[in-house]
Parts: sequence; C-alpha cells; structure tokens
Amino acid sequence: MSYSKHRQTLLRRNNEAQVLLAIRKHAPISRAQIAKATKLSLACVCGIVDDLIADGTLIETGTFIGPRGRPMELLEFNPNGRAIAGAWLTHDSMHVVVANPKAEILATRVTNVSGLDFASDGLDILANEIQKCSEDANKELESLEGVGLSIADKVDRLLGIIDSASEISGWSGVPIVRLLSERLKLPVYADNDVRAAAYASQLLEGDISGSSLYVTISRGLGCALLYNYEIISGSHGVAGEINHITIDRNGPKCICGNKGCLNTLASDINFICDLWDDLTQENAKNLPLNERRSLIEKGIRMAISGDPKARYALESFTHNLALGIANIINLFDPQSVSVAGTIIEVAPDVVMDMLRAEILKRVSPPARGIEIKAINDWLGFLLKGSVGLVLGQQFRVLHKDNLEAKIVSKL
Ligand SMILES: [Zn+2]
Repeated sequence: MSYSKHRQTLLRRNNEAQVLLAIRKHAPISRAQIAKATKLSLACVCGIVDDLIADGTLIETGTFIGPRGRPMELLEFNPNGRAIAGAWLTHDSMHVVVANPKAEILATRVTNVSGLDFASDGLDILANEIQKCSEDANKELESLEGVGLSIADKVDRLLGIIDSASEISGWSGVPIVRLLSERLKLPVYADNDVRAAAYASQLLEGDISGSSLYVTISRGLGCALLYNYEIISGSHGVAGEINHITIDRNGPKCICGNKGCLNTLASDINFICDLWDDLTQENAKNLPLNERRSLIEKGIRMAISGDPKARYALESFTHNLALGIANIINLFDPQSVSVAGTIIEVAPDVVMDMLRAEILKRVSPPARGIEIKAINDWLGFLLKGSVGLVLGQQFRVLHKDNLEAKIVSKL
C-alpha cells in the first residue's frame, strides 16, 4: 500500500472511531450533533454513518426536531448487531455473558470452578460456557464480534497470558488468548478485571473523570489507575498495585512474600477473620462468595448495633484501606476514587462515610475536594469490563487527546 493510501486509511479509521465514540457517549444522537461533538464536517460524518448503517453497526431510531425546526434522524448502536461475549474468571468461578453492541447483557451463565485444575479442564469449560451462553442469547457463536476475558489476576495484555504468580491454578503462563481464539475462531482480548472494568466505565458508562482510581475489595484488593483516559501500567506492569502497599512492616505475611501488605489488612477475609476467632485466613479464603457475604452482613449488623469487637474490625478495615487509598491520591492526585466490593454493597453509606473521613484526613489539602464514591453493583462493573475489552477495540486507534475531547464535549 502506498504511503498516501495508508495515511488515508488511518485517517478514515480515526474519523470512524470518533463518530462511534460520540454515539457511544451521547446516543441517540443526530448526524449534525455528531459533527458538532467531533468537529468533523457534516459530509464526512454522513459518509461514515451511511457505511455503518449499511454494515448493520448503527440504526436510525427516531426523529428529533432541530433548533431551526428541521427534523433530524437520531442514531444509536444496532441492538441486533454483532453480539459480544465476555467472561470474568476468578479462582473459583466463571461468569460468562453475551451482550449486544449497546453493552446490554442478553444472557449470563455462572459456573463454580472451585478446586478445578485449569490446566487440564479450564479451556474446555470456558469454551463450552461461551458456546452455551451464545445459545441462551439466541446468537450464533461464529457471528460474535469477539470475546473479552476479564481476569482476577495479573495479565500480560500484549502476550495474552496470565502472570506466572497466578492464583488461578494451572493457568500461570498459559497463552489463554491464543488458545481460546484458536478454539472459538474468534478474536479474544484479555486484561486484569479491575483494569478492564475501569476502562469500560470511562468509555461505556459515562464516567468522564479522565483521571481516576478504582479499587475493588474481595478476597484481596484490586486496583486500576487511569490517567488522561489511559490505564497506567508502569514499566513492569505493576503500577497501581494497591494490594502490596506496606501498611505494617510487622503485619501478616502476604502471598507476595512481604509482610503487612494492604492485601492482608483490608480485605473481606481480614474483616471476617477479625470477627470470628475460629475462622482461619485459609478457611475464609475458601468460603464461597455467598457464605462470605452473609458473614460480612452479620458483622456489619453487629458493628451498627454497637458490638465492640465488630466495631473495631470495621474501623480497622476502613482505617487500613484509607491509608492505602490516601497514599495513591497523594502520589497521583486523581479526580475521583471509585470503590467496589461486597462490604461496600452490604453497607454503602456506613462504610463509605467512615472511609471518606479517614481518607480526607490523610490527603494533601488541595486534593480534599476529591470525589470518593461507591460502585453499588460491583459484579455488573466487572462483567461490563469484559464486554468493554471487545467494544473498546473500536477506539484503540484514537489518540488520547481525541478521546478526551470527545468524552468531555458538550452537545
Ligand atoms: Zn503483598
């Protein structure tokens, strides 16, 4: 391909991505409104939109009467267009979803994989679940746009492998993206679950902070740091690893080999083990999520009713978590912090009020106006992340300045 032809193709892809992003953020939206939001010419927008309607990506969805009284057709993603599969993989469960191009979930399946050796059976089960979920959604597997794998572990995004220190038994170093893609004959994309969900929140859910910290609390902690609409990975892929911030140098031993990491002092496990003396960390880690949740609910009720031990456990949890979050705020100064997890879902007001107060005591004065918010549906947040791994491919071509301009633009 000649240089000028190559440049033309890139420009066209960039313009198309800008149009798609404007529709993702503002649908239903007219061609004139897209032109205003993207600063592309109306003729350019019309040409791109016509092609996207012809290939089934977009549909006209109604009429809007413009400021001069002229009717304008509104556009949105075609809900019957190519669907997307997503999977959230943890050490004990596989959640698989199929969604339409509007990121609306059409079908969900959950499989308990507790005790499974992923090396021998994991790929078969995952491929099978994706196939069945497609059938549940009345979609042909081969018609899917792609599969997003959102993994509760460290992931090398470029190589498509789970980190060698993986907690998902048997999948350390396995090239999961290549193997699943060969099996399903579909494009597959993978990332750490919290990073994927944070990116999806920015692109699909209307979170326009641009620079945000996302923290999830479960058996351990997950964290993603977005700066100027990009996930910060760092030189070795470990940026934003809030779970291994040292809080107490003499604290409990962490899976990373150090002592007193936040991971060991501010998780679901830590909270319930502080409350029930007969529960060891190992036993607590192996509890199914529903049992862990009911212990958390019981503990929060006890704390609210004034039980001193439960009160101490909750204060210790929020104090330690606040230390970790405040340290990251002081380092990176994000615009907002979003926190998700079972303990937040169980008592968002109580936990967030305590957490907010502790964080604000420790951040530098100019950052005390920071927004600190709860994500109330953390499962939905993580599942959307897997879908966003596929939908987000439309925007990878965009330079971050374009992303920023389009996301914050007002119509
Ligand atoms: Zn650690």
